[in-house]
Amino acid sequence: MDAVASGAKRGATDDMRRWLASRKPLGLLTLIAGGNVADRGQIRPILTARGHQVTECDTLSEVVEKLNAEPFQLIVVDWADPEPATEVCKQVRKHFQGQDAVILAVCPAEMVHSSDKLIDAGVNDFVIRPMDSNLLSARLGFLEQWAHNLMERVWAEEALRESEEEFRDLFESSPIGIYQSTPEGRILMANPQMARMLGYRSFEEMAAVDLEEGGFWPSYPRERFKMQLERDGEIRGFEAAWTCRDGRTLFVRESARVVRDGTGNVIYYTGAVEDITDQRVAEEALVESEQRYALAMNGAKDGLWEWDLISDTMHLSPRWKQMLGYEEEEFPDAPGSWFDLVHSEDVDALRAELATHLDGLTPHFEHEHRMQHQDGTWRWMLSRGVAVRGKDGIPRRMAGSQSDTTERRRAEEELLHHALHDRLTGLPNRALLMDRLRRATALANRRQDYTVGVIFLDLDRFKLINESLGHELGEKILVQVAQRLESCMPQGDTVARVGGDKFALLLEGIESMDEARATADAIQVQLTQAIWVGGSDVFVTASMGIACSTQGYDRAADMMRDAEVAMYKAKTKGRACHAIFDPSMRERAVAWMQIESYLRHAVQREELRLYYQPIVSLATGNIVGFEALVRWQHPEMGLISPSKFVHIAEETGLIVPIGMWVLREACLQLQRWRQTFSDYANLTINVNLSGRQFSQQNLVKQIEQVLKETDIDPGALRLEITESVLMEDRNTALKALRQLKELNVKLSIDDFGTGYSSFSHLELFPVDSLKIDRSFINRMGVNGENTEIVDTIVNLGRTLGLTVVAEGVETEGQLNQLRTSSCELAQGYLFSKPMKRQDVEAILLRNPQW
Ligand code: C2E
Ligand code: CA
Ligand code: CA
Repeated sequence: MDAVASGAKRGATDDMRRWLASRKPLGLLTLIAGGNVADRGQIRPILTARGHQVTECDTLSEVVEKLNAEPFQLIVVDWADPEPATEVCKQVRKHFQGQDAVILAVCPAEMVHSSDKLIDAGVNDFVIRPMDSNLLSARLGFLEQWAHNLMERVWAEEALRESEEEFRDLFESSPIGIYQSTPEGRILMANPQMARMLGYRSFEEMAAVDLEEGGFWPSYPRERFKMQLERDGEIRGFEAAWTCRDGRTLFVRESARVVRDGTGNVIYYTGAVEDITDQRVAEEALVESEQRYALAMNGAKDGLWEWDLISDTMHLSPRWKQMLGYEEEEFPDAPGSWFDLVHSEDVDALRAELATHLDGLTPHFEHEHRMQHQDGTWRWMLSRGVAVRGKDGIPRRMAGSQSDTTERRRAEEELLHHALHDRLTGLPNRALLMDRLRRATALANRRQDYTVGVIFLDLDRFKLINESLGHELGEKILVQVAQRLESCMPQGDTVARVGGDKFALLLEGIESMDEARATADAIQVQLTQAIWVGGSDVFVTASMGIACSTQGYDRAADMMRDAEVAMYKAKTKGRACHAIFDPSMRERAVAWMQIESYLRHAVQREELRLYYQPIVSLATGNIVGFEALVRWQHPEMGLISPSKFVHIAEETGLIVPIGMWVLREACLQLQRWRQTFSDYANLTINVNLSGRQFSQQNLVKQIEQVLKETDIDPGALRLEITESVLMEDRNTALKALRQLKELNVKLSIDDFGTGYSSFSHLELFPVDSLKIDRSFINRMGVNGENTEIVDTIVNLGRTLGLTVVAEGVETEGQLNQLRTSSCELAQGYLFSKPMKRQDVEAILLRNPQW
C-alpha cells in the first residue's frame, strides 16, 4: 500500500470518529422514490425541515442510478401499488447487500395486508397515508437514530477493515520482523521480514524447518527475556544476539507482549524485532577505534591498564608498574592499589572524572594527578582511557594508558615562573607585582582597615658602578641587593625587580604610612653594609619613593607611578633617602622625567653654560684660578643646576659629550683670560671629571686633543676626580691617572674625606692636590671647634707634597681657621658664587684681594 492511499483511508476513519465523538445529528442523505409527484411533494418539506438532504426519483431505473451515485442512508419508498414498492425495496437491499440503509415505506391503508411482502423485501417501517405529521415526525426521529446507528456500524467496520489492511500491509512489508511464538520460542506465525532476517525465504520455509526450541535464541538471554516478559506483561528494547540459519550473528532489538487466556495462562508471545546488526557493528568499531585511539595516544613508554568493571579486577601492564618504581610481581593488579598511590588531594577529582566518563558524560576519560613513586617522590601522571559499554549502555570495562608528565609539568611551571619572575634575582617581576598590587588596592578600597604601601627603589649611580666594575659584577651586586631587600620585608610581602636597578616593594596590610617609612629606613640601614664582590667592597645607596593606599587610589598603576615620582624627588633631595608622595610632586616630577629626553639635545642646541667660581690663595688673597661648573639654560625651565641633571647625564652616559664640551669650553676661556688679563697669565682652571668619563677608554686621547686644539699649557688644567670614583676600581683609576699625568695635567681629588678609605691609599695615586669636602669646612665653628680633621688633611697634604684646597668657605671665621691651619687655597661663597664669563671678566679687571 502506498503512503498516500493509506493516509487518505486513515483520514476517512478519523472523520467518523470525530463525528461519533461529537454526536451531532448529521443531515441524512435521503432518497424519495415515488410514483406520484404530489405525494413526494407532501413528504419532502417535512424531511428537509429535519435537515435531510433530499433527492427524488420516480422510476425503478432512476432509483438504481441514484443509489449508485450517492450513499443514501434513508430511502422513502412511496408507491400506491405494492408491486413497484416491493421491487424498489428489493433493488435497494440488493444495492446495499446488507442492512446499510433504512427503508421507510409510505403506503395507503389498504396496502397494509401486503406488509409481509414489503418486510421481506427489506422495509424497516411503514407510514400509512393519509399521514399524521406528528406521527411521521416521531417515526422519522426513530428512523434517523437507526440510520445513525447503522452508519456508526458501517464506519466502525470500515475502520476495522482499514486497520486490518494496514496491519496486513505492515505485516507483509514491514522492515520490522513480527511474530507470534510459544513461550518456548517455537514460531507460530511470522512476517516475511522476520523470516528474511533469520535467513529464510519465507515464513513457510522457516516453519518447515524443524527449529528446536528457541533455536535461534541463545539460552541465557532467552531465559532473562522470558522472565522479564512474563513478570511485566511486556518488554521494550530488549537487545539480544540471535543465530541465523547460516550461523551468522544477528543483533536484534525486540519489543514483545504476552497474550493470555481468560484464566491468565500464557497462550503466546507476540513481538516486533528490529535488526540492529549494522548499528552494533558500527558501535563496536567505534569502541575499538576509541580503544585504539587511547592506546595510540601513547608511545611505548606509557603504561597500560585495563579494568573489568563487573568483577572489579584490573590489569596493569609491567610498564605501568615500572613507571612507579615497582616490579611486575611486586604490585597487585587491583583498582585499589592504583588509587592508593594517588595523592590524597587528587584522588577525589580522579574518582569524579572516572564517574563522569562511566556515566557517559564524557567521550574519553582523562585525568592528571600526582602519584607516589616507590622512592617516595611524587610524580605527575596523565591517565587516559575509554569505557567499553554493553548493549544496555552500561560500562563493562575500561582500558587506557598512563604517561608520566612530571617533566612536562616542571617545564610548564618553570615557564610560568619565568613569565612572572626576574631571571637574575629570582624576584617577582613587574607583571607579577602589578597583579598583586591590583588585588591589594582592590581590597584596600573595600576595607577601611586595610592599607597598602608601595616603595619604589632606585639604586643611586648604578650605571656608573655597572660600567666601572663591569656587567658581571654589576649583576652580582643586584642579586645581593635583592637579598637584602627581601630580608627587610615581612614574610609574604612582595619585593619585585621592575627594571635594571629599580625595585618595588609591596607592603600589604600595614598599619599606616609610618610602617612604610620604617621599612624604607631599614632598607637604607641594610644597604650601608659593604657588598663584597669581585674581591672588594662596594657601597651602594638607594633612593626610594613611597605611595600609600591611604592617599586614595583606584588604580594600581597610579599608585606605582606616584611611588616612582616620589623616588625622583628623593634623588633630587640628594639620594640615599626616601620621599613620600604628595600630589604637588606630580607636575614637577613629570617635568623632571622629561629632563632626560631634553638633555639629549642640550649640547647640540647650545643650552649648556659654564659658570666659574674663583679659587683664592690664602697667603696672598689673590685669585689663582677658577673651577668651571656647568649649568643648563633650559628654554622653558630656566637655569638648571648641575645637581639636578648631572646624575641623569651620568646614568644615561650623556655626561661624556657634556664633559668634553665643558673641558673644551673651559680651556678656551682660560686661554683667552690668560691672554687678556696680564695679571692673570698663570691662571689655572679646574674641570670636574665624572666617573663615567673616567672609565672611557679614549678619555686620555680626547683630553690630549683638546689641549692641542686650545693650545693651553697642560699644567694650567686641573682635573677634579672624586675620591669614590678612584676607589671603585683602583687599578683602572691608577692606570688612567698615570696616563693623564703623562700629559702633564694636574689632578685633584674632589670631595676629599667623604670616601671610604681616604688616607690609606692616597700615596698610591699620582695626584697634585686635595679638595677638602665642604661638609668639613661647614662644621668648623667660630671658636676653632672641629678643626682637627681639616688640620689633619692639611698636614697630610703637606707631607705628601700636595696642594690643599678648602671648598665651601662661607664665613670669615672659616677663612681665619683655614689660615691658622695654613691651608693654601680656598673656594666658596665668601669670595664669590660661581659666575658667568662676563662677571668673571669684571672681577679680573678689578683684581680683588681677600
Ligand atoms: P663640586 O664639584 O663639589 O662643586 C662645588 C659645588 O659647591 C658647586 O655646586 C658650587 O656652586 C658649590 N659651592 C661653592 N661654594 C660654596 C659654598 O660656599 N657653600 C655651598 N653650600 N656650596 C658652595 P654646583 O655648581 O651646583 O655643582 C654641584 C656639583 O655638580 C659639583 O660639585 C660637581 O660634582 C657637579 N658638576 C658641576 N659641573 C660639572 C661638570 O662640568 N662636570 C661634572 N662632571 N660635574 C660637574
Ligand atoms: Ca668640583
Ligand atoms: Ca667638591
